[in-house]
Amino acid sequence: MTLDTPSESIAQRRADLTGRIEAARSSAGRTDEVTLVAVSKVQPDERIEAALRAGQSVFGENRVQEAEARWAARRAGWPGLELRLVGPLQSNKARQAVQLFDVIETLDRPKLARALAEAMVREGGEVSCLIQVNTGLEPQKAGVAPGNMPALLGEATALGLKIDGLMCIPPVDEPAGPHFALLAKLAHAHRLSVLSMGMSADFETAIAFGATHVRV
Ligand SMILES: *Cc1c(COP(=O)(O)O)cnc(C)c1O
Repeated sequence: MTLDTPSESIAQRRADLTGRIEAARSSAGRTDEVTLVAVSKVQPDERIEAALRAGQSVFGENRVQEAEARWAARRAGWPGLELRLVGPLQSNKARQAVQLFDVIETLDRPKLARALAEAMVREGGEVSCLIQVNTGLEPQKAGVAPGNMPALLGEATALGLKIDGLMCIPPVDEPAGPHFALLAKLAHAHRLSVLSMGMSADFETAIAFGATHVRV
């Protein structure tokens, strides 16, 4: 949730978003669920608290360190909380990430898959992962090329990772629809059920293409 609104209006902002998500879901004729992932970025803690009190329980974080500072102590007070890493992950932070997050949305290379598999063995936990796909083949952007996704999926699965779906961030200067369509097609072809796609500007389009998680 772009929480750059006064904290008293966060509940209203969340209600508006939830309403728009529901409307998009129903006009797409979908009966399955669409989850709002509130991306907290560098928001001050009082806004996060306001979102939690308003009933928001799924949060996306871009950076492991920041997420740890924010949630390590706080999460015990919110049993239903789900934390999702939506920013790039360095292999040397895999262990921290596995300790903190319920879902890692940004697996995009074999080295990281190996580091995560090792971290999960050591920590004794299993964290759900999504593969981030660079649908626009943008050189500066994270994500595996669409053509290399199946190989990475095979490798990660062989390492014992639980790959539940795909995530993408389309190029800012192109219509997002074709990128969402490509991600949905790839997920379908590989029987992956989770599709994390769509942000503030295009989440309704993403829902029309089958997004199960929108990041706002
Ligand atoms: C910041 C961010 C979002 C939310 O972006 P908005 O445009 O503010 O909705 C979603 N996904 C990722 C990966 C982000 O970094």
